[in-house]
Amino acid sequence: MTRRFLSIIACLAALAASPLTAQERALGGLARLDAENSAITDRAWGRGTEVTLALSQGVPWRVFTLSDPARLVLDFREVDWGGVDPATLDRSEAISEVHTGAYRKGWSRLVALLETPMAVEQAGLSLDPETGAAKLRLRLAETDAETFAARAGAPRDPRWDLPDPAPVRAAARGGVEGRPLRVMLDPGHGGIDPGAVYGGETEANLMLIFARELKEVLLRAGGFEVSMTREDDIFVSLEGRIEAAHDANADVFLSLHADALAEGIARGATVYTLAEEASDAASAALAERHDRDDILAGLDLARTDDRVAGVLMDLARLDTAPRSTGLARALVGGIENATGNVHKRPLRSAGFSVLKSADIPSVLIEVGYLSTPQELRNLRDPAWRAGMAAGIRDGLQTWLVEDAALDGLRRQ
Ligand SMILES: [Zn+2]
Repeated sequence: MTRRFLSIIACLAALAASPLTAQERALGGLARLDAENSAITDRAWGRGTEVTLALSQGVPWRVFTLSDPARLVLDFREVDWGGVDPATLDRSEAISEVHTGAYRKGWSRLVALLETPMAVEQAGLSLDPETGAAKLRLRLAETDAETFAARAGAPRDPRWDLPDPAPVRAAARGGVEGRPLRVMLDPGHGGIDPGAVYGGETEANLMLIFARELKEVLLRAGGFEVSMTREDDIFVSLEGRIEAAHDANADVFLSLHADALAEGIARGATVYTLAEEASDAASAALAERHDRDDILAGLDLARTDDRVAGVLMDLARLDTAPRSTGLARALVGGIENATGNVHKRPLRSAGFSVLKSADIPSVLIEVGYLSTPQELRNLRDPAWRAGMAAGIRDGLQTWLVEDAALDGLRRQ
Protein backbone atom coordinates (compact mmCIF):
# COMPACT_ATOMS: atom_id res chain seq x y z
CA MET A 1 0.00 0.00 0.00
CA THR A 2 1.99 2.93 -1.25
CA ARG A 3 -1.02 5.12 -1.74
CA ARG A 4 -2.23 6.93 1.28
CA PHE A 5 -5.57 8.61 0.91
CA LEU A 6 -6.06 11.84 2.72
CA SER A 7 -9.62 12.31 3.77
CA ILE A 8 -10.41 15.98 3.48
CA ILE A 9 -14.14 16.14 3.94
CA ALA A 10 -15.22 13.41 6.27
CA CYS A 11 -18.78 14.17 7.12
CA LEU A 12 -21.73 15.96 5.65
CA ALA A 13 -22.70 17.92 8.72
CA ALA A 14 -19.37 19.71 8.69
CA LEU A 15 -19.71 20.51 5.01
CA ALA A 16 -23.17 21.96 5.38
CA ALA A 17 -22.47 24.05 8.46
CA SER A 18 -18.91 25.36 8.26
CA PRO A 19 -17.47 28.11 6.08
CA LEU A 20 -14.93 27.14 3.42
CA THR A 21 -11.92 25.44 4.91
CA ALA A 22 -8.42 26.12 3.66
CA GLN A 23 -8.43 22.71 2.02
CA GLU A 24 -11.72 23.40 0.26
CA ARG A 25 -10.38 26.71 -1.02
CA ALA A 26 -7.35 24.87 -2.36
CA LEU A 27 -9.73 22.77 -4.45
CA GLY A 28 -11.27 24.18 -7.56
CA GLY A 29 -11.06 24.18 -11.29
CA LEU A 30 -12.33 21.54 -13.62
CA ALA A 31 -12.12 17.85 -12.70
CA ARG A 32 -12.54 15.15 -15.33
CA LEU A 33 -14.63 12.06 -14.60
CA ASP A 34 -12.72 8.78 -14.81
CA ALA A 35 -15.69 6.66 -15.91
CA GLU A 36 -13.80 3.36 -15.77
CA ASN A 37 -13.28 3.73 -12.05
CA SER A 38 -16.69 5.17 -11.31
CA ALA A 39 -19.93 3.28 -10.64
CA ILE A 40 -23.09 3.08 -8.57
CA THR A 41 -23.37 -0.45 -7.17
CA ASP A 42 -25.35 -2.39 -4.58
CA ARG A 43 -23.44 -3.78 -1.63
CA ALA A 44 -23.76 -7.48 -0.85
CA TRP A 45 -26.39 -8.80 1.60
CA GLY A 46 -28.67 -5.81 1.16
CA ARG A 47 -26.27 -3.50 2.97
CA GLY A 48 -27.19 -0.50 0.87
CA THR A 49 -25.85 1.19 -2.24
CA GLU A 50 -22.49 2.77 -2.94
CA VAL A 51 -21.65 5.68 -5.25
CA THR A 52 -18.00 5.90 -6.30
CA LEU A 53 -16.87 8.71 -8.58
CA ALA A 54 -13.22 8.92 -9.63
CA LEU A 55 -12.14 12.47 -10.56
CA SER A 56 -8.89 13.81 -11.98
CA GLN A 57 -8.67 16.27 -9.07
CA GLY A 58 -10.57 17.40 -5.99
CA VAL A 59 -13.35 19.97 -6.38
CA PRO A 60 -15.85 21.47 -3.91
CA TRP A 61 -18.98 19.36 -3.77
CA ARG A 62 -22.19 18.79 -1.83
CA VAL A 63 -24.88 16.13 -1.61
CA PHE A 64 -28.56 16.22 -0.71
CA THR A 65 -31.79 14.33 -1.33
CA LEU A 66 -35.12 15.52 -2.74
CA SER A 67 -38.58 13.98 -2.49
CA ASP A 68 -41.52 13.65 -4.96
CA PRO A 69 -39.92 11.69 -6.55
CA ALA A 70 -37.06 10.47 -4.32
CA ARG A 71 -33.75 11.70 -5.77
CA LEU A 72 -30.11 11.97 -4.81
CA VAL A 73 -28.37 15.14 -6.02
CA LEU A 74 -24.60 15.69 -6.15
CA ASP A 75 -23.28 19.16 -7.05
CA PHE A 76 -19.70 19.94 -8.01
CA ARG A 77 -17.67 22.99 -8.89
CA GLU A 78 -16.86 21.67 -11.46
CA VAL A 79 -16.81 18.29 -13.24
CA ASP A 80 -16.34 17.62 -16.96
CA TRP A 81 -18.50 14.53 -17.54
CA GLY A 82 -16.63 13.88 -20.78
CA GLY A 83 -19.67 12.76 -22.75
CA VAL A 84 -19.98 9.61 -20.64
CA ASP A 85 -23.46 8.08 -20.88
CA PRO A 86 -24.58 8.29 -17.23
CA ALA A 87 -26.62 5.09 -17.63
CA THR A 88 -23.33 3.14 -17.83
CA LEU A 89 -22.48 4.23 -14.26
CA ASP A 90 -25.70 2.77 -12.89
CA ARG A 91 -25.23 -0.87 -11.86
CA SER A 92 -27.62 -0.66 -8.91
CA GLU A 93 -31.11 -2.10 -8.52
CA ALA A 94 -31.91 0.79 -6.17
CA ILE A 95 -31.39 3.50 -8.81
CA SER A 96 -33.78 3.80 -11.77
CA GLU A 97 -32.12 6.65 -13.73
CA VAL A 98 -28.93 8.70 -13.59
CA HIS A 99 -28.48 12.11 -15.27
CA THR A 100 -25.31 14.21 -15.41
CA GLY A 101 -24.45 17.57 -16.92
CA ALA A 102 -23.90 21.26 -16.40
CA TYR A 103 -26.27 22.99 -14.00
CA ARG A 104 -25.53 26.68 -13.69
CA LYS A 105 -22.39 28.30 -15.02
CA GLY A 106 -19.49 26.74 -13.12
CA TRP A 107 -21.68 24.05 -11.54
CA SER A 108 -22.03 20.40 -12.50
CA ARG A 109 -24.68 18.04 -11.28
CA LEU A 110 -25.49 14.34 -11.00
CA VAL A 111 -29.08 13.32 -10.26
CA ALA A 112 -30.02 9.73 -9.41
CA LEU A 113 -33.69 8.66 -9.21
CA LEU A 114 -34.15 6.36 -6.22
CA GLU A 115 -36.44 3.32 -6.37
CA THR A 116 -37.00 3.51 -2.59
CA PRO A 117 -36.27 6.16 0.06
CA MET A 118 -32.57 6.05 1.03
CA ALA A 119 -30.46 8.13 3.37
CA VAL A 120 -26.85 9.20 2.87
CA GLU A 121 -25.01 7.34 5.64
CA GLN A 122 -21.44 8.22 4.76
CA ALA A 123 -19.91 10.64 2.30
CA GLY A 124 -16.32 11.66 1.76
CA LEU A 125 -13.88 12.86 -0.84
CA SER A 126 -10.34 11.51 -0.60
CA LEU A 127 -7.29 12.76 -2.46
CA ASP A 128 -4.33 10.73 -3.63
CA PRO A 129 -1.40 12.84 -2.39
CA GLU A 130 0.86 11.62 -5.21
CA THR A 131 -1.38 12.07 -8.27
CA GLY A 132 -3.87 14.60 -6.88
CA ALA A 133 -6.70 12.39 -8.17
CA ALA A 134 -9.86 12.39 -6.06
CA LYS A 135 -12.37 9.72 -5.17
CA LEU A 136 -15.84 10.56 -3.92
CA ARG A 137 -17.59 7.79 -2.00
CA LEU A 138 -21.17 7.82 -0.79
CA ARG A 139 -22.93 5.08 1.08
CA LEU A 140 -26.73 5.02 0.95
CA ALA A 141 -28.97 2.93 3.18
CA GLU A 142 -32.70 2.31 2.98
CA THR A 143 -34.85 4.44 5.21
CA ASP A 144 -38.57 4.91 5.78
CA ALA A 145 -40.59 7.41 3.77
CA GLU A 146 -41.22 9.68 6.76
CA THR A 147 -37.55 10.06 7.68
CA PHE A 148 -36.67 10.57 4.04
CA ALA A 149 -39.26 13.33 3.58
CA ALA A 150 -38.14 15.08 6.76
CA ARG A 151 -34.52 15.22 5.59
CA ALA A 152 -35.17 16.04 1.93
CA GLY A 153 -34.52 19.47 0.47
CA ALA A 154 -31.69 21.46 -1.08
CA PRO A 155 -29.57 23.10 1.64
CA ARG A 156 -29.67 26.89 1.69
CA ASP A 157 -26.01 27.74 1.30
CA PRO A 158 -24.78 31.14 0.09
CA ARG A 159 -21.65 29.53 -1.36
CA TRP A 160 -23.81 27.58 -3.80
CA ASP A 161 -27.02 29.48 -4.20
CA LEU A 162 -27.59 32.43 -6.48
CA PRO A 163 -28.52 35.71 -4.80
CA ASP A 164 -32.26 36.34 -4.45
CA PRO A 165 -33.63 37.84 -7.66
CA ALA A 166 -34.66 41.46 -7.82
CA PRO A 167 -38.37 42.18 -7.30
CA VAL A 168 -40.67 41.99 -10.31
CA ARG A 169 -41.46 45.31 -11.96
CA ALA A 170 -44.72 45.82 -13.75
CA ALA A 171 -44.00 45.70 -17.47
CA ALA A 172 -45.26 48.56 -19.60
CA ARG A 173 -46.94 47.68 -22.88
CA GLY A 174 -44.17 48.02 -25.47
CA GLY A 175 -43.48 48.22 -29.11
CA VAL A 176 -46.35 50.59 -29.89
CA GLU A 177 -45.22 53.99 -28.63
CA GLY A 178 -42.06 54.19 -30.67
CA ARG A 179 -39.87 52.08 -28.45
CA PRO A 180 -38.52 48.70 -29.57
CA LEU A 181 -40.42 45.51 -28.78
CA ARG A 182 -38.56 43.62 -26.04
CA VAL A 183 -38.37 39.96 -27.05
CA MET A 184 -37.21 37.25 -24.65
CA LEU A 185 -35.97 34.23 -26.58
CA ASP A 186 -35.94 31.02 -24.56
CA PRO A 187 -33.80 28.24 -26.06
CA GLY A 188 -35.37 25.12 -24.50
CA HIS A 189 -33.52 22.77 -22.15
CA GLY A 190 -29.71 23.02 -21.61
CA GLY A 191 -26.96 21.70 -19.36
CA ILE A 192 -27.95 18.56 -17.45
CA ASP A 193 -31.21 18.56 -19.47
CA PRO A 194 -30.35 17.99 -23.17
CA GLY A 195 -34.01 17.77 -24.23
CA ALA A 196 -34.60 15.46 -27.19
CA VAL A 197 -31.54 13.55 -28.38
CA TYR A 198 -31.53 12.17 -31.93
CA GLY A 199 -28.80 11.22 -34.38
CA GLY A 200 -26.09 12.61 -32.10
CA GLU A 201 -27.84 15.99 -31.96
CA THR A 202 -29.47 17.53 -28.89
CA GLU A 203 -32.49 19.78 -28.84
CA ALA A 204 -30.70 22.00 -26.28
CA ASN A 205 -27.76 22.67 -28.60
CA LEU A 206 -29.81 23.14 -31.77
CA MET A 207 -32.16 25.59 -30.07
CA LEU A 208 -29.23 27.60 -28.64
CA ILE A 209 -27.79 27.91 -32.15
CA PHE A 210 -31.19 28.84 -33.58
CA ALA A 211 -31.90 31.39 -30.82
CA ARG A 212 -28.58 33.15 -31.50
CA GLU A 213 -29.38 33.30 -35.22
CA LEU A 214 -32.94 34.50 -34.59
CA LYS A 215 -31.60 37.20 -32.28
CA GLU A 216 -29.35 38.46 -35.09
CA VAL A 217 -32.23 38.44 -37.59
CA LEU A 218 -34.44 40.47 -35.23
CA LEU A 219 -31.70 42.98 -34.39
CA ARG A 220 -30.94 43.46 -38.10
CA ALA A 221 -34.65 44.06 -38.81
CA GLY A 222 -34.72 46.90 -36.28
CA GLY A 223 -37.51 47.67 -33.82
CA PHE A 224 -36.57 44.79 -31.50
CA GLU A 225 -34.60 44.49 -28.29
CA VAL A 226 -33.66 40.85 -27.73
CA SER A 227 -32.60 38.96 -24.60
CA MET A 228 -32.09 35.24 -24.06
CA THR A 229 -32.89 33.10 -21.02
CA ARG A 230 -29.57 31.30 -21.53
CA GLU A 231 -26.52 32.11 -23.64
CA ASP A 232 -24.63 28.89 -22.90
CA ASP A 233 -25.13 25.18 -22.41
CA ILE A 234 -26.45 25.58 -18.86
CA PHE A 235 -29.60 24.47 -17.07
CA VAL A 236 -32.33 27.05 -16.39
CA SER A 237 -35.49 25.99 -14.55
CA LEU A 238 -38.87 26.68 -16.15
CA GLU A 239 -39.62 29.21 -13.38
CA GLY A 240 -36.17 30.75 -13.88
CA ARG A 241 -37.06 31.37 -17.54
CA ILE A 242 -40.27 33.19 -16.55
CA GLU A 243 -38.34 35.25 -14.02
CA ALA A 244 -35.75 36.20 -16.63
CA ALA A 245 -38.54 37.50 -18.88
CA HIS A 246 -39.94 39.64 -16.06
CA ASP A 247 -36.54 40.90 -14.97
CA ALA A 248 -35.93 42.06 -18.57
CA ASN A 249 -39.40 43.68 -18.76
CA ALA A 250 -40.05 41.58 -21.86
CA ASP A 251 -43.07 42.33 -24.07
CA VAL A 252 -43.16 38.83 -25.57
CA PHE A 253 -41.71 35.46 -24.62
CA LEU A 254 -40.82 32.86 -27.27
CA SER A 255 -39.77 29.42 -26.01
CA LEU A 256 -37.93 27.51 -28.76
CA HIS A 257 -38.05 23.73 -28.96
CA ALA A 258 -37.45 20.80 -31.30
CA ASP A 259 -38.78 17.85 -29.35
CA ALA A 260 -38.95 14.22 -30.37
CA LEU A 261 -42.27 12.41 -30.47
CA ALA A 262 -42.64 9.11 -28.66
CA GLU A 263 -44.82 7.76 -31.45
CA GLY A 264 -45.81 8.75 -34.96
CA ILE A 265 -44.23 11.15 -37.40
CA ALA A 266 -44.79 14.87 -37.06
CA ARG A 267 -44.02 17.42 -39.74
CA GLY A 268 -43.93 21.18 -39.70
CA ALA A 269 -43.71 23.83 -37.04
CA THR A 270 -46.32 24.01 -34.28
CA VAL A 271 -47.01 26.98 -32.01
CA TYR A 272 -48.36 26.28 -28.53
CA THR A 273 -50.17 28.55 -26.11
CA LEU A 274 -51.05 27.99 -22.48
CA ALA A 275 -54.35 26.38 -21.55
CA GLU A 276 -55.58 24.56 -18.48
CA GLU A 277 -57.12 21.92 -20.76
CA ALA A 278 -54.76 20.58 -23.41
CA SER A 279 -55.97 20.71 -27.03
CA ASP A 280 -54.96 17.05 -27.51
CA ALA A 281 -53.21 14.17 -25.75
CA ALA A 282 -49.88 14.67 -27.53
CA SER A 283 -49.70 18.31 -26.42
CA ALA A 284 -50.51 17.32 -22.82
CA ALA A 285 -47.73 14.72 -22.91
CA LEU A 286 -45.27 17.29 -24.27
CA ALA A 287 -46.06 19.77 -21.47
CA GLU A 288 -45.74 17.02 -18.86
CA ARG A 289 -42.39 15.91 -20.25
CA HIS A 290 -41.00 19.43 -19.99
CA ASP A 291 -42.05 19.54 -16.31
CA ARG A 292 -40.41 16.15 -15.78
CA ASP A 293 -37.15 17.49 -17.25
CA ASP A 294 -36.96 19.94 -14.33
CA ILE A 295 -37.42 17.03 -11.90
CA LEU A 296 -34.64 15.03 -13.58
CA ALA A 297 -32.37 18.08 -13.31
CA GLY A 298 -32.71 17.84 -9.51
CA LEU A 299 -35.02 20.79 -8.95
CA ASP A 300 -36.81 21.03 -5.61
CA LEU A 301 -40.35 21.72 -6.78
CA ALA A 302 -41.65 21.52 -3.21
CA ARG A 303 -39.99 24.87 -2.49
CA THR A 304 -41.97 27.12 -4.79
CA ASP A 305 -40.92 30.70 -4.84
CA ASP A 306 -43.77 32.93 -3.62
CA ARG A 307 -42.50 35.75 -5.79
CA VAL A 308 -42.71 33.60 -8.89
CA ALA A 309 -46.09 32.23 -7.84
CA GLY A 310 -47.27 35.84 -7.82
CA VAL A 311 -46.53 36.29 -11.51
CA LEU A 312 -48.10 32.98 -12.54
CA MET A 313 -51.25 32.78 -14.55
CA ASP A 314 -54.60 34.13 -13.70
CA LEU A 315 -56.31 33.55 -17.00
CA ALA A 316 -59.63 34.95 -15.88
CA ARG A 317 -58.20 38.29 -14.77
CA LEU A 318 -55.93 39.32 -17.57
CA ASP A 319 -56.03 39.84 -21.28
CA THR A 320 -52.75 37.97 -21.78
CA ALA A 321 -54.36 34.76 -23.04
CA PRO A 322 -56.06 36.29 -26.12
CA ARG A 323 -52.90 38.30 -26.86
CA SER A 324 -50.85 35.07 -26.73
CA THR A 325 -53.35 33.41 -29.08
CA GLY A 326 -53.07 36.33 -31.50
CA LEU A 327 -49.28 36.09 -31.30
CA ALA A 328 -49.39 32.35 -32.01
CA ARG A 329 -51.65 32.88 -35.04
CA ALA A 330 -49.39 35.61 -36.45
CA LEU A 331 -46.31 33.43 -35.98
CA VAL A 332 -47.93 30.48 -37.77
CA GLY A 333 -48.74 32.80 -40.67
CA GLY A 334 -45.21 34.20 -40.81
CA ILE A 335 -43.60 30.75 -40.64
CA GLU A 336 -45.94 29.33 -43.30
CA ASN A 337 -45.14 32.19 -45.68
CA ALA A 338 -41.40 31.95 -45.12
CA THR A 339 -40.91 28.17 -45.14
CA GLY A 340 -44.00 27.02 -47.04
CA ASN A 341 -44.66 24.50 -44.33
CA VAL A 342 -46.34 24.25 -40.92
CA HIS A 343 -47.89 21.33 -39.05
CA LYS A 344 -51.36 20.30 -40.31
CA ARG A 345 -52.73 21.44 -36.93
CA PRO A 346 -50.26 24.23 -36.21
CA LEU A 347 -52.07 25.93 -33.29
CA ARG A 348 -52.24 23.89 -30.12
CA SER A 349 -52.38 24.43 -26.38
CA ALA A 350 -51.49 22.68 -23.11
CA GLY A 351 -50.39 23.41 -19.56
CA PHE A 352 -46.79 24.38 -20.31
CA SER A 353 -45.22 25.71 -17.09
CA VAL A 354 -42.84 27.96 -19.03
CA LEU A 355 -45.80 29.87 -20.53
CA LYS A 356 -47.40 30.79 -17.19
CA SER A 357 -46.52 34.49 -17.10
CA ALA A 358 -49.63 36.40 -16.16
CA ASP A 359 -48.71 39.57 -18.03
CA ILE A 360 -46.35 38.64 -20.90
CA PRO A 361 -47.79 37.12 -24.10
CA SER A 362 -45.96 33.79 -24.29
CA VAL A 363 -45.81 31.01 -26.86
CA LEU A 364 -43.80 27.84 -27.30
CA ILE A 365 -42.63 27.14 -30.84
CA GLU A 366 -41.82 23.59 -31.89
CA VAL A 367 -39.55 24.69 -34.71
CA GLY A 368 -39.43 21.10 -35.96
CA TYR A 369 -39.38 17.57 -34.60
CA LEU A 370 -35.98 16.01 -34.00
CA SER A 371 -37.44 12.51 -34.37
CA THR A 372 -38.46 13.15 -38.00
CA PRO A 373 -35.41 12.58 -40.28
CA GLN A 374 -36.26 15.38 -42.76
CA GLU A 375 -36.82 17.83 -39.91
CA LEU A 376 -33.50 16.87 -38.30
CA ARG A 377 -31.84 17.65 -41.65
CA ASN A 378 -33.71 20.99 -41.78
CA LEU A 379 -32.69 21.93 -38.25
CA ARG A 380 -29.05 21.26 -39.13
CA ASP A 381 -29.26 23.39 -42.29
CA PRO A 382 -28.32 27.08 -41.77
CA ALA A 383 -30.31 28.14 -44.87
CA TRP A 384 -33.46 26.44 -43.59
CA ARG A 385 -32.96 27.98 -40.15
CA ALA A 386 -32.59 31.42 -41.75
CA GLY A 387 -35.99 30.95 -43.41
CA MET A 388 -37.57 29.92 -40.11
CA ALA A 389 -36.03 32.92 -38.34
CA ALA A 390 -37.38 35.25 -41.06
CA GLY A 391 -40.84 33.70 -40.61
CA ILE A 392 -40.79 34.36 -36.87
CA ARG A 393 -39.61 37.94 -37.48
CA ASP A 394 -42.46 38.53 -39.95
CA GLY A 395 -44.94 36.98 -37.52
CA LEU A 396 -43.80 39.29 -34.71
CA GLN A 397 -44.07 42.35 -36.95
CA THR A 398 -47.59 41.38 -38.05
CA TRP A 399 -48.67 40.74 -34.48
CA LEU A 400 -47.31 44.07 -33.33
CA VAL A 401 -49.62 45.94 -35.73
CA GLU A 402 -52.66 43.75 -34.97
CA ASP A 403 -52.10 43.87 -31.21
CA ALA A 404 -51.81 47.66 -31.23
CA ALA A 405 -55.07 47.91 -33.17
CA LEU A 406 -56.80 45.52 -30.75
CA ASP A 407 -55.38 47.43 -27.80
CA GLY A 408 -57.08 50.56 -29.15
CA LEU A 409 -60.39 48.65 -29.30
CA ARG A 410 -59.90 47.22 -25.81
CA ARG A 411 -59.39 50.69 -24.38
CA GLN A 412 -62.67 52.06 -25.84
ZN1 LIG B 1 -38.34 20.71 -25.61
